[in-house]
Amino acid sequence: MSISPRQPKPKKCRVAACGVLFVPARLGQAVCSPACAILDAPKNLERARKSLAQIERREIKVRKEKLKSRADHLREAQAAVNEFIRLRDAHLACISCDSLPNDYDLMTGSRWDAGHYRSVGACPELRFEPMNIHRQCVKCNRNLSGNAVEYRIRLVLRIGAEKVDWLEGPHPARKYTVEEIKAIKADYRAKTRELKRAAA
Ligand SMILES: [Zn+2]
Ligand SMILES: [Zn+2]
Repeated sequence: MSISPRQPKPKKCRVAACGVLFVPARLGQAVCSPACAILDAPKNLERARKSLAQIERREIKVRKEKLKSRADHLREAQAAVNEFIRLRDAHLACISCDSLPNDYDLMTGSRWDAGHYRSVGACPELRFEPMNIHRQCVKCNRNLSGNAVEYRIRLVLRIGAEKVDWLEGPHPARKYTVEEIKAIKADYRAKTRELKRAAA
C-alpha cells in the first residue's frame, strides 16, 4: 500500500488584480508567481512596518513599566481608586459641604476630588479603603484641608457611626508589594469600567 503525500489545496493569489488559483509550492506562499510577488511587495512592507511599530510600542511600555518606582505604582493605584470613588459618588453632594456640581462647574469644568477622611499621610493603612474616601468639592479638599469636622458629620450619616469608629480606630501596618499595588490598580480600573457600563 502506498502512502500518497498530502496534496496542498489550491489557493487564490493574494494580488487582487490577479486572483488566479494556484497550488502553493511552499508553506505560506500567498502569490502565484514571481511577477505577482513584486506587485505584492509594497503591501508586505507596509504590514511589516506596522507590526514592527507595534512591537516597538509594546517594548517601550514594558521598559517604562520596569522603570516605575514603588511610589509610582502607589500613585497610579491611588488614582485608579480615586477615579472609582468620584464615579461611585457622582450622584452625591460633597461629603463636607453638601454642594452639588452646578452649571458653573460644568461650564468651567471645575474638578471634583476624592477626599480621604483619614489622610494618606496620617493613616496610610486606609489609603485604598473605599469607606475612607468620598467625593469632595475642590474647595473643601484643598482650600479647607479636607474640612474634617464637616466631613465627619456627613460620614456618620452616610456609612454609620460604627464604621466611622472603625476608620478612626487603630489599623495594622500594611506593606504592599508592587504586585499587590498593581492588582489594586487593575481591580479598581475594572470596577470603574463596570460602573461606566452600568451608567451607559
Ligand atoms: Zn498572481
Ligand atoms: Zn465641599
